[in-house]
Amino acid sequence: MLETLPLLQQTRFPSLSREGVTTLQVNLGYLCNQQCLHCHVNAGPKRTELMDKANIDAVLDYLRSAKIRTLDLTGGAPEMNPHFRYLVSEARKLDVHVMDRCNLTILEEPGYQDLAEFLAMQQVEMVASMPCYQKENVDGQRGKGVYDLSIRGLQRLNRLGYGQADSGLVLNLVYNPGGPFLPPGQNELEADYKQQLRAAHGIEFNQLLTLANMPIQRFGSTLISRGQFDEYMALLTASHSDANLATVMCRSLLSVDWQGHVYDCDFNQMLKLPLTRKAAGPAVVAKQGKTHLSELIGVDLAGEPIVVSGHCYGCTAGQGSSCGGALS
Ligand code: SF4
Ligand code: SF4
Repeated sequence: MLETLPLLQQTRFPSLSREGVTTLQVNLGYLCNQQCLHCHVNAGPKRTELMDKANIDAVLDYLRSAKIRTLDLTGGAPEMNPHFRYLVSEARKLDVHVMDRCNLTILEEPGYQDLAEFLAMQQVEMVASMPCYQKENVDGQRGKGVYDLSIRGLQRLNRLGYGQADSGLVLNLVYNPGGPFLPPGQNELEADYKQQLRAAHGIEFNQLLTLANMPIQRFGSTLISRGQFDEYMALLTASHSDANLATVMCRSLLSVDWQGHVYDCDFNQMLKLPLTRKAAGPAVVAKQGKTHLSELIGVDLAGEPIVVSGHCYGCTAGQGSSCGGALS
């Protein structure tokens, strides 16, 4: 795979600082039942990296001590981590809102048939990948057969109450473009998705979140090999909006890797750009490498600088992009 970081580091992206931490986003490992082209973590069925029980407990300790209100679980397929259900149920006991970034097909995998019921019982918010409402596009981007399995997964979630009015079970879908272009308007696309999925499959969901593709990892490497990297970066840079800087997710989110180390966001995690703590003073900066989550118990991160690079334009281009969809 071709490295994108050397191409991203010469950047004029504005400096950013952290407001605090309200959301902890935890990558439970790179194991996944799928292997999608745009995947920014290079996840797949052969990956062996998985967060262990000691680090799961470190996550729970941090949730407790920092009074985090939202735990956002990602991977890979986070549900394939053997400690997934333990983490979810312990976090729910702390009254933490849990989000599961689910690829939908995992709900139909052998050994996971009761997963949807568990998620509903724990009132986990589902954030499900669905890059299009048309079969050809979904199978083209995520693999043959993924569309049909995803539809079955969505219907299963609907039967449990997900996406239905007044059920309290939230089902949001995630769209990302199938190539080096920006997502269309979130509201217009959501209306199309709702109409098409309801008419064809009787599927209901709450919101569509549109995300831009990041010029890193597998997608970035593909851009380089196809000679499209510079053009895509030029598009992101030209579409930058300062108005999106106030709400980029790194201002309130902390990202944790499968070994318990912390980053400003999932993308920095994938680029191996660890959290920095300049405001903590020269002694901390001098010994700084990767910081483990357990070292942040009792530490106020407000005002600390965020590590930015060229890929950050992926968050601020056009209507903006974050784990919660468009920013503006
Ligand atoms: S389902 Fe998600 S984590 Fe798995 S390969 Fe596809 S994009 Fe990556
Ligand atoms: S990629 Fe986005 S979320 Fe991550 S540091 Fe840059 S602006 Fe913040």
